Amino acid sequence: MKIVFATSNRNKIKEVQNLLPDSIKIIGLTDIECFEEVPETSDTIAGNALQKANYVFNKYKVPCFADDTGLEVESLSGAPGVHSARYAGEEKNNQKNIEKLLFELEDKGDRSAQFKTVIAVVGLDKESICLEGICKGTITKTLTGTNGFGYDPVFRPLGYENTFAEMSLVEKNKISHRGKVVNKLIDYLKYR
Ligand code: IMP
Repeated sequence: MKIVFATSNRNKIKEVQNLLPDSIKIIGLTDIECFEEVPETSDTIAGNALQKANYVFNKYKVPCFADDTGLEVESLSGAPGVHSARYAGEEKNNQKNIEKLLFELEDKGDRSAQFKTVIAVVGLDKESICLEGICKGTITKTLTGTNGFGYDPVFRPLGYENTFAEMSLVEKNKISHRGKVVNKLIDYLKYR
């Protein structure tokens, strides 16, 4: 079986491919000669994942899955959520996003938050499906650690002393939103 992962990020593709049997082949957008920007204009994380997967399936007629992730902070009514990458502006600057988040939380007692990743799969079965992975935690007051990316230096998963940025990728993947949803995807692809 061949399925497109709607991303141009070879690392993401490799990561998922490594977890799958040889009978399931993951290819990227460049492999189907899709060099355009795939639209993601929905106001929900699941909506964006579905929009991307549907777009590729409808245009290129190949089964496809797409992912979308956001950080949802309880006392900010779920913000930055679907806007996580651009929280502090169009330039998608991680440092500025974190600064804004810490500023918004300055006077808030509740710092609980969760990362959510949704993977939408389109074109394999009659109905498209959405899989979800959630990692709960808290937003720290200062940045700690240098690993990872995005909000990792200020996100401490529930039950752990360290932020994501203080963990190795292997450690993070075992408990992360993305790790969880990728495991669900693998089960779905293997046993459907
Ligand atoms: P994307 O949907 O994977 O592009 O993620 C959207 C945004 O969420 C990224 O630009 C990051 O700011 C943030 N993000 C996603 N996954 C993570 C993570 O594992 N750690 C920290 N930040 C993340």
